[in-house]
Amino acid sequence: MIDVHTHLHPPRLTAAIRRWFAEHSSWVLRHPTEPREVARLLREAGVTRFAFCSYAHKPGIARELNGWLTATARDLGDGAFPLATVHADDPDPAGDLRDALRAGCIGLKVHEDVQRFGLDDPRLDGALGALAAHGVFVLAHVGHIPWSDDTNDGPGRMTRVLERHPGLRIVVAHFGAPDHLRYLDLTAREPRLFLDTTMAFAPESPMRIEIARADVERGARQIVLGTDWPNIPYAYDGDLRGLRALGLDDATVRAITNENARRLSPAFA
Ligand SMILES: [Zn+2]
Repeated sequence: MIDVHTHLHPPRLTAAIRRWFAEHSSWVLRHPTEPREVARLLREAGVTRFAFCSYAHKPGIARELNGWLTATARDLGDGAFPLATVHADDPDPAGDLRDALRAGCIGLKVHEDVQRFGLDDPRLDGALGALAAHGVFVLAHVGHIPWSDDTNDGPGRMTRVLERHPGLRIVVAHFGAPDHLRYLDLTAREPRLFLDTTMAFAPESPMRIEIARADVERGARQIVLGTDWPNIPYAYDGDLRGLRALGLDDATVRAITNENARRLSPAFA
């Protein structure tokens, strides 16, 4: 399997994130966070390749984070691929991104809620252009879910970003909830738009969506496995169990857990 959405953060940031969830949510996060242990458990679950990310929640730290992410990828070896981070308030997000790609990052992660800027922020234009030029993808947490359902027309914004950057691929995290049906409509005419399964299907997930099997099937070639591992309040296979419970056939599950990711990124091919 290929998991396009997992998290590794430097120890201090990991501790801060765990503290935040303990104080502000009812999520009980207990999975290990040490990179080698996170990767070992992924491999044990049958994941052969995975993308991992952190995010710069403030200006001034993106370059250092990217350095940590690429060093961690080298330490983890085969199958572990970092996604870069940039911050719109930094002087040169495009330069930061290009350096990160050169150092081994295979794309970019943007978290609109934590980072407090939109993917369509004009200050990201250069960075998104650099991604498009390399034919690589951005993984986007769109809007403020799960804390608010207001995405400020997320699907409209993602469509405009794709139009402005031919060649760019966007993976919308968390299956695009709460706009997932609109995104599924869009996938039919936009082959560069993907949705990941992260936390949207696990029966125990606080971000689980209601969806019919037919809706998953109509977007099935543009759905990729993502999990948010290890920052989830349930076992690794939650989203997989949720997908299988819909009654999808084996070929569809294989497309979602493996083949689609290979089309998404040359790193996974
Ligand atoms: Zn995530």
